[in-house]
Amino acid sequence: MNEKVAALLKSVTKPGRYSGGEYGEVQKDKHAVSARFAFAFPDTYEIGMSNLGMRILYGALNARPDIWCERVFAPWVDMQEKMREYGVPLFAHESGDPVREFDILGFTLQYEMCYTTVLQMLRLAGIPIRAAERGEEDPIVIGGGPCTYNPEPVADFFDCFSIGEGEENLVEFAELLIKMKKEGGFTREKFLREAAKIEGIYVPSLYDVAYHDDGTIACVTPRFPDVPRTVKKRIMPDMDKAFFPEKVVMPYIETVHDRIMLEVYRGCIRGCRFCQAGMIYRPVREKTPEVLQKQARTLYDATGYEEISLTSLSISDYTRLEELTCGLLEWTDRNMVSLSLPSLRVDSFGEELMKKVASVRSSSLTFAPEAGTQRLRDVINKNVTEADLMHAVNVAYGGGKTAVKLYFMEGLPTETADDLAGIAELASRVVDEYYRGPYRQKGRSPQVTISVSCFIPKPFTPFQWEAQDTMEMLAEKQAYLGSKVTDRHVRYTHHDARVSRIEAVLARGNRRLAAALELAADEGFCFDAWDEFFDYDRWLSVFARTGIDPAFFANRAMGLDEILPWDIIDCGVTKEFFKRERARAYAGKTTPNCREQCSGCGANRLGGVRVCCPAGCKEKK
Ligand code: SF4
Repeated sequence: MNEKVAALLKSVTKPGRYSGGEYGEVQKDKHAVSARFAFAFPDTYEIGMSNLGMRILYGALNARPDIWCERVFAPWVDMQEKMREYGVPLFAHESGDPVREFDILGFTLQYEMCYTTVLQMLRLAGIPIRAAERGEEDPIVIGGGPCTYNPEPVADFFDCFSIGEGEENLVEFAELLIKMKKEGGFTREKFLREAAKIEGIYVPSLYDVAYHDDGTIACVTPRFPDVPRTVKKRIMPDMDKAFFPEKVVMPYIETVHDRIMLEVYRGCIRGCRFCQAGMIYRPVREKTPEVLQKQARTLYDATGYEEISLTSLSISDYTRLEELTCGLLEWTDRNMVSLSLPSLRVDSFGEELMKKVASVRSSSLTFAPEAGTQRLRDVINKNVTEADLMHAVNVAYGGGKTAVKLYFMEGLPTETADDLAGIAELASRVVDEYYRGPYRQKGRSPQVTISVSCFIPKPFTPFQWEAQDTMEMLAEKQAYLGSKVTDRHVRYTHHDARVSRIEAVLARGNRRLAAALELAADEGFCFDAWDEFFDYDRWLSVFARTGIDPAFFANRAMGLDEILPWDIIDCGVTKEFFKRERARAYAGKTTPNCREQCSGCGANRLGGVRVCCPAGCKEKK
């Protein structure tokens, strides 16, 4: 450990966040490797260490003997203060070395509200926050993760982005750096020009963006003929062959998810029209139970974790779930390892599952009907009915549960007052179901919690063109719904609409937001994903002083023929599909899921996919 860092640990909270030296961390001789990759998670250690993407990419990069990947997390505010006071730059966990000494600094961007933390980390590292101001001695700064499906708001701060899945293209990226450094005459500019040829690598400085007077984009022009017009996302065609770690770093302190996370498949067959993840991770690619069994056993033997979480966007849609859970339960029960299945859908929750999995044995159960009426559920293509919900709730009551949590959104396209009132009414009917049904327990009453978030029209969804409701509209709707919740067994909570608005600006913005983000960083903004640090009025002040009208990005309906900031990215699913789905939404029509029928989203254009879904989108050579 870096001595200077060690000296600080006595005076900060949770020093285990910074100590390094955990069981399972990868140590290498820094003089024997050809590339040093600092993998940064722009939030605290406890959150970063629980991120599956980070576990996978840390392992994939370190699987190469000539690459040393080390972890970096955002120091908490007390540690940042000490680091500035004692001149300790941002450091990597494994070696304790300053991050600015590395060849590559990679940030995973999971949530737009982490952008200011990224900039603070660059500042703490002593690396210029603007890519254009970096020198040859500075690391190449690359971004990855779901937020890179609209990288434009932070384009000026990154040298490049890895769009899509990084297991292969990040390794190819590092390999290219090694090769070009070995060949001699390495410059950042030459490297980035070459890197732009790797599928999935986007180099924003190789494109010029012009705007109309009204602030919309006029055109985006590649600066050289060999620069692709759009950047196609990278995917792992065969998940059975995709890298998956055989061991993970075991933290000394408690983290958010202290368990094995077993990724079962990627993508989603459902097509909910508000859901970005359901679109950007297409096509659906499953692992086989045989491979999953082996991965689970290997990780259990390497970690001794007492819980295995089967992760995916909708676990109950995994085609071989029965086979997988039965196979796992053969040894997990014996070893006192519990199995948890997050992301269970309302319409696939049954007694069998109830008996099997621990996560269902917890105190409350969570379902996501998302909208209070069937009409609006059809508009958003949720494809679940009230009967599905009542069936799932009865299974829960039958399993001895009395607490149910229901997730909804407000501010959805075409939403009416009846839809909002429908949320309260549906929750009351869930309560009635307890008293009406056969599972009423003497002396126990049900507790139904409705948690309502604010709809954000995200890029690469059929609703990407929609305007977000204004703050006034959202506040009015929250109050209206509150007035409709009269059942004493129903608890109503809602998200802070102010956070959702800033998130909408950062999710739908363009490069002109860079000035606002830089000013925010200058004024010490950090950890905006944390309630105690988020300050809406300060954001409005920053926007005002940098000429940014947040309504232009959040509350303006974008034109169907307008060039969108994220049009530079090709996520596989086509704009034509999104437009079709948007029209079906406004017509109140649902679209069958991919298992029932292929709706031609285009994801099967991404080469090398074995079988997209049984419904039909076979590999196109
Ligand atoms: S191509 Fe068809 S089957 Fe494949 S993900 Fe898209 S809609 Fe579903």
